[in-house]
Amino acid sequence: MSTPYDWLDRNLASIHKANWYRSTQTITSKAGTIATIDGREMLMFASNNYLGLAGDRRLIEAAISATQIYGTGSTGSRLVTGHLALHEELEQAIANLKNTEAALVFSSGYLANLGAISAVVGPRDLILGDAYNHSCLKKGGLLSGAMSINYLHLDIADLATKLKEYRAKYRRCLITTDSVFSMDGDLAPLRKIMDLAARYDCMVLVDEAHGTGVFGDRGGGLTQSLAIEQDLIQVGTLSKALGSLGGYVAGSAKLIDYLRNRAATWIYTTALSPADTGAAIAAINLVQKEPERRQQLWQNVKFLQQGLQDLGIHAIAFDSPIIALKFGDGDIDVTMHISQQLRQNGFFAPAIRPPTVPTARIRLTLMATHTTSQIQTLLQCLANI
Ligand SMILES: *Cc1c(COP(=O)(O)O)cnc(C)c1O
Repeated sequence: MSTPYDWLDRNLASIHKANWYRSTQTITSKAGTIATIDGREMLMFASNNYLGLAGDRRLIEAAISATQIYGTGSTGSRLVTGHLALHEELEQAIANLKNTEAALVFSSGYLANLGAISAVVGPRDLILGDAYNHSCLKKGGLLSGAMSINYLHLDIADLATKLKEYRAKYRRCLITTDSVFSMDGDLAPLRKIMDLAARYDCMVLVDEAHGTGVFGDRGGGLTQSLAIEQDLIQVGTLSKALGSLGGYVAGSAKLIDYLRNRAATWIYTTALSPADTGAAIAAINLVQKEPERRQQLWQNVKFLQQGLQDLGIHAIAFDSPIIALKFGDGDIDVTMHISQQLRQNGFFAPAIRPPTVPTARIRLTLMATHTTSQIQTLLQCLANI
């Protein structure tokens, strides 16, 4: 007998056939450079825990203490029963870290982007986004109803051409970009984007998911190291270098005031839990008080770069702790083979393949807490393969 759900079998079969099927791996250890995955101890080179804070005793204690004071759940949306003094403290800490007037905390970075984009542009408006932008920037564009057009990855000339061609036909225009691209680890030309935005009267939304905590002398992100924190909409996550969960928008007081009234993904969802909020406050404090973590992370990046270059292994960029290795011009079979070899040797560094990215690569990420000898073992294993 047929059921209305039979199409699921057919669709799953075609996902398998394309070799696009994905599944989960179970971790049974605390966040760190060594993880127990499916029962086996492995060296972790794939985590977004750039500063090693997700397993830090002080974040754990802050989460426990916030839970003891406020309980496990925040019990409601921010506009009803969920707005805690702890959220205010976190928003002030983010605004301070980001050097903006104000900030607003969302339940995830994904929701922060959906909410911010769909609130600031609508059907009469234009979005110009980098072709490699994160999924949530693209979905935010769809949700907004604005005309969304991609420009070629990092290509300022293409952005300029598209502004010239389309800008005048729309009311407002929003340029969107990741600051650090999540799959390739390369950096957006933010200064040039800001110049074009000023020339064409555009807003700019920069997603600092992988920049916060990693760039800037106080860890404020790539916008901080370029000193362009003003006149833009900064979005980011509390779940990567900050080791917690949640997302944020930082910007002018009037932008934040407006979002509190118009961002549906903030208004109609339960406020961030006390534990996540408390951990994020502790993380923002440490990001500024312990710059040596950031320095160690960058030393690790340099060390890996040198080692890979000595081995003649090509990477897309060495501009961030995300290092995407390309083998055989991104050939899927070669990349999958190397990925399996790494796995057999106890390294967790997965291959990323289409449709997530145009060509296959192995995406390594470094943490401040990786030791030189851990990185050396990885290099040795790559040399053997
Ligand atoms: C991870 C990521 C997000 C989503 O953040 P979450 O807090 O995990 O939802 C948004 N943008 C970019 C570029 C990311 O890499």
